[in-house]
Amino acid sequence: MRVEPKQPSVKGPENLFTGDVWFDVIAAPQPAPSRMRVNAVHFSPGARTAWHSHAVGQTVHVTEGSGLIQSRGGAVLEIRPGDTVYTPPGEWHWHGAAPDSFMTHLAMWEAPADDGDEAQWGAHVTDEEYGSRP
Ligand code: MN
Repeated sequence: MRVEPKQPSVKGPENLFTGDVWFDVIAAPQPAPSRMRVNAVHFSPGARTAWHSHAVGQTVHVTEGSGLIQSRGGAVLEIRPGDTVYTPPGEWHWHGAAPDSFMTHLAMWEAPADDGDEAQWGAHVTDEEYGSRP
């Protein structure tokens, strides 16, 4: 085994996120056959991912704050600490903080076995989409 010391936090790039988003790598990619990926993702109020999908799906587990998540065509759902959301492979969605709260979640996913893209990224989530609360 080895202890992997805390790595510097990484700013989420503007082409993939709206607002201030930072992530900490919890499980860095290991040699195959491991395909596990885990990040802690920290969203400032109003910050969110762009629309995207994951080749092998994704599990999100909220640890702090208050957040929002939406699948393409579905309602905007509120998510809270302790909530776990599974998004199946290829399902387009976004996730982020509520307008008035920070939110941190663990993001857990796997790289595809064929070494293809782990995620597909699309347009930013507009203020109208973000504000379309139930
Ligand atoms: Mn996702």
